[in-house]
Amino acid sequence: MSVIYPRVALIGLGLIASSMAHAMRAQGLAAEIIGHARSAETRAVARELFCDRVCETAAEAVQGADLVVLAVPIGAMGAIAAEIAPHLKPGAVVTDVGSVKGAVVEAVAPHIPPGVHFIPGHPMAGTEYSGPRSGFATLFQNRWWLLTPGAETDAAELARLRSLLEGIGAKVDTMDVAHHDLVVAVVSHAPHLIAYTMVGVADHMRRVSQSEIVQYSATGFRDFTRIAASDPTMWRDVFLTNKDAVLDILGRFTEELFVLQRAIRMGDGDHLHAYFTRTRAIRRGIIEAGQDTAAPDFGRGAEPPRGG
Ligand code: NAP
Repeated sequence: MSVIYPRVALIGLGLIASSMAHAMRAQGLAAEIIGHARSAETRAVARELFCDRVCETAAEAVQGADLVVLAVPIGAMGAIAAEIAPHLKPGAVVTDVGSVKGAVVEAVAPHIPPGVHFIPGHPMAGTEYSGPRSGFATLFQNRWWLLTPGAETDAAELARLRSLLEGIGAKVDTMDVAHHDLVVAVVSHAPHLIAYTMVGVADHMRRVSQSEIVQYSATGFRDFTRIAASDPTMWRDVFLTNKDAVLDILGRFTEELFVLQRAIRMGDGDHLHAYFTRTRAIRRGIIEAGQDTAAPDFGRGAEPPRGG
């Protein structure tokens, strides 16, 4: 493939940014990749593994960049945007990879100068690992990357960003900001909270010893523990910034849980059977859409990455 952006600046050099860098390099989509992260340690790893140049400040890193990717925790986006704003090249595109869009747009958009294009984005791919060594070139392969352009977004710049993301393997879709935040609350944020809770419950169950939890975990609990091992900073920010949508979904979840709880108490097997038949159909739909494997035990060993 040919170069889509001559110079790309990655601000934040963790799982998502390092995976983007590996994939862009593998496909030859950027002539030069510049990076910045908070710590000297991360910058040194990035210099060694996937950046052509790293800078001590974000302001320096974005100078002359055609594409700037904000890949820091959601809570840090606003301050970074304020810092880089005066240094952005006219005509540059700024995008981000934050898992929540409303809060990021609110924090970043006011700082974007006229003549610079801000196109918010969210790769629905991740693992429970973080940091500059955790990235790999195939993370986005066949995963969705949602963009939330506004009515004023330049169509040619949107198409150019889309071609970069498709070039690194992603499937791209666009939607509005509020809809995005509701969709991810259902498919990602609430399930993560439920996994955190389930692992917390097991932790508090003094009647079940630690060794039994580990020994018998393959019966389902293991998958919760993997999700509940996700980065605490990232997930704290997700819940604090997608509060309304997550609370809406958790309210619905609690209602459903009470209905199932009542069915169990009343011995209403028909209700449980009908409910589980419906949920099984959803699982089939996910497999048919290529979003997971039908292999027994979730195809462990060749497991596809998760979304964040
Ligand atoms: P990560 O691996 O923890 O990396 C975060 C990076 O941001 C690190 O390089 C860190 O630098 C840097 N950073 C943090 N605060 C900073 C600041 N104030 N100034 C400059 N750099 C700063 O995180 P990640 O998983 O790549 O996530 C990054 C973004 O992607 C988040 O907004 C998250 O919502 C989104 N996202 C994550 C996933 C996922 O599953 N992981 C999926 C989709 C979207 P140091 O290493 O020096 O601390």
